[in-house]
Amino acid sequence: MAFDVTFLAEMRAQLDAAKARLEQELAKIGKRSGQDTADFQTSWENYGDKEEENAAEVAAYSDSLGLEATFEPELREVLEALGRLDQGTYGLCRQCGNKIGEQRLRARPMATLCIECQGKSDR
Ligand SMILES: [Zn+2]
Repeated sequence: MAFDVTFLAEMRAQLDAAKARLEQELAKIGKRSGQDTADFQTSWENYGDKEEENAAEVAAYSDSLGLEATFEPELREVLEALGRLDQGTYGLCRQCGNKIGEQRLRARPMATLCIECQGKSDR
């Protein structure tokens, strides 16, 4: 009961695109800790030692942290989904093992739960 090859290729393309986009965003705000990890270190820009310069530093740093907090988990999900594609377990519900609908995956390629299980976990 596998997904067809065309569909999987389509999902891989979507995930690759999402990965590239997220990596680009994260590269703007920090330095990656290692190859193929979703872990980025937010860089601390040194504006200067005067007190008002330090305040600007702190503001820029917390902005970056906010962005990192948004993009990092998303990138992690994308990488995990790509991993599942490689292992041939892509598109199977983590909870019940059933296939996640193609429509649902198109809307959210890194989905890990089928619509029924998602409904249960939202409750
Ligand atoms: Zn399920």
